[in-house]
Amino acid sequence: MSNPPTNPPWQTRPPYLPTSPSADVQKHYSAQCHCGRVRYWLSRDRPLASKFCHCVGCQALHGAPFQWAAIFEKDDLHFEPGVVEGGGLAFYHAPTREGRYRLPVKVSCASCRAPIMDEGRRMVLMFPAIIEFGDAEHKKLFDPQCHIFYSQRVVDMPDGKPKWTGLDGKSELMKDVG
Ligand SMILES: [Zn+2]
Ligand SMILES: [Zn+2]
Repeated sequence: MSNPPTNPPWQTRPPYLPTSPSADVQKHYSAQCHCGRVRYWLSRDRPLASKFCHCVGCQALHGAPFQWAAIFEKDDLHFEPGVVEGGGLAFYHAPTREGRYRLPVKVSCASCRAPIMDEGRRMVLMFPAIIEFGDAEHKKLFDPQCHIFYSQRVVDMPDGKPKWTGLDGKSELMKDVG
């Protein structure tokens, strides 16, 4: 009898696996939650994509009219020593409405509750609002390319960027008005 294969525990997988900067893995940005207990750094100089999500779920979970998320590989995000081991992270599995680690999972600071990221099955959507950008040029690299779930918006954003009724590329484009 063999046991069914099990996934390795989340603490031993990126982005939670302890890593140190090196010649190949450079620290491009640091970020910290509002209270400073959760700190991490990014080893990629710009996100794969960046979006504003206007869905009602993001509105409820972020307490904001929309959410700003930047997509990275799981290997790009590295928590500072002590954060993961010290229980600094809180988890929420939205599909079952349970506060536990299960993908896709919402990750926040266990103390100040600042949203840190959404960990999907293959990527992370992190929230750039807590990144310490050195200058406007670097911040510009995180500018969103589009708006998603714009049909659920509470505020118009006539910025000329593509506006999708749902997911980008998988829903209808909306007219930019305002
Ligand atoms: Zn915090
Ligand atoms: Zn959303």
